[in-house]
Amino acid sequence: MRYSALSLVKNALTGNRSWKPAWRDAAPKAAYDVLVIGGGGHGLATAYYLAKQHGLTNIAVLEKSWIGSGNAGRNTTIIRSNYLMPGNVPFYELSMQLWEGLEQDLNYNAMVSQRGVLNLYHSDPQRDAYARRGNSMRLHGVDAELLNREQVREMVPYLDFESARFPVQGGLLQRRGGTARHDAVVWGYARGADMRGVDIVQGCEVTGIRINSGRISGVETTRGFIAAGKVALAVAGNSSRLAGMAGLRLPIESHVLQAFVSEAIKPLIDTVITFGAGHFYVSQSDKGSLVFGGDIDGYNSYAQRGNLPVVEDVCESSMALMPMLGRLRVLRSWGGIMDMSMDGSPIIDKTPVEGLYLNSGWCYGGFKATPASGLCFAHLIARDAPHAAAAAYRLDRFATGRLIDEKGAGSQPNLH
Ligand SMILES: Cc1cc2nc3c(=O)[nH]c(=O)nc-3n(C[C@H](O)[C@H](O)[C@H](O)COP(=O)(O)OP(=O)(O)OC[C@H]3O[C@@H](n4cnc5c(N)ncnc54)[C@H](O)[C@@H]3O)c2cc1C
Repeated sequence: MRYSALSLVKNALTGNRSWKPAWRDAAPKAAYDVLVIGGGGHGLATAYYLAKQHGLTNIAVLEKSWIGSGNAGRNTTIIRSNYLMPGNVPFYELSMQLWEGLEQDLNYNAMVSQRGVLNLYHSDPQRDAYARRGNSMRLHGVDAELLNREQVREMVPYLDFESARFPVQGGLLQRRGGTARHDAVVWGYARGADMRGVDIVQGCEVTGIRINSGRISGVETTRGFIAAGKVALAVAGNSSRLAGMAGLRLPIESHVLQAFVSEAIKPLIDTVITFGAGHFYVSQSDKGSLVFGGDIDGYNSYAQRGNLPVVEDVCESSMALMPMLGRLRVLRSWGGIMDMSMDGSPIIDKTPVEGLYLNSGWCYGGFKATPASGLCFAHLIARDAPHAAAAAYRLDRFATGRLIDEKGAGSQPNLH
């Protein structure tokens, strides 16, 4: 069923009784050509592009819970392509371009909103770092503007410009950045994949990976063994667990990242703002809530809930930037399990097990990557060769030293 203004009017006039479910709740078959593990944005996008671009349709996406129950439905919805490193900029820009046509491609309203992403700087060295980042972006054909203090004040006058401790000196603005509705992205890809014959199997946890003579033969699940010629892991914070089932040890740590929403207020923030002197970023949802977040928790965890020291740190940073936020009530907070890679950049690669593919290491930033991640992972799975935009995301870079150290922080996931 295609969505259109006409179908909306028709259904409104007939009591909205004719809408069909957006995708089938499929039962698993005994065997598939490709099994994608993980019904988050990346897994579903991978299945969608496998079907759409490579004509593979004997595919199932296996999700242990319901689709979008992981980080895909827990993130703060920011999309941008303001990266620095050569390995990253083309990939994230490809993703940005896919976002720009996604709703037409999927025939689904993902509420993509290019409201701009403004990264503030508070010191001369930080300005220089942002100037360098902006130049790198422009050299790759990506939009970037370095704003001075007065230009930032004009754009977001409600920040604390008088702060003696963290004076706002300016910001790096990517106007094409913004937000997208995270669960709508999941649903849109699920619907698109389902329409092309992909089985989306919810409530199906992978509990083991079966390998015969170095080659994948299928997976054990809570709903029985499922055979497959190719198995693709897109399980974000659970990557190490799943890879461990195949005897692999990954350069990934799992950490909790928390997010927060406030009570709804009148329109205040019409862009995305990141604080440069602490880890805090904020935007406003269409319902009026402020959506904000900060740093990962200080220790490894598989629990989808966070600890109080980070709550305190996020609130302190928010008050340093916008003291008026102290009058807002926080309505909800939650956590997701982040797959933190040791250089802050992702992995889209084959593994030493033939037929087993890995998509992981998204750290704080995998939501914005969803379209390109799915596209490039599908390319890798279908052709057994990396997509040009993701060629740097090799697993062996941690052995060869060809790291993509986006933050220049080395092997410290807490700094990425
Ligand atoms: C609080 C928070 C804020 C964030 N903010 C942003 C942001 O603003 N912008 C941005 O770009 N990124 C952001 N991110 C990161 C982004 O959400 C993730 O990098 C991205 O969603 C990860 O890919 P995914 O959607 O496929 O992961 P997930 O949605 O986590 O998908 C993985 C799926 O695998 C399933 N799974 C796990 N184990 C098994 C198993 N054994 N069998 C079957 N299924 C299994 C899980 O249930 C899950 O549904 C944020 C993350 C969090 C937690």
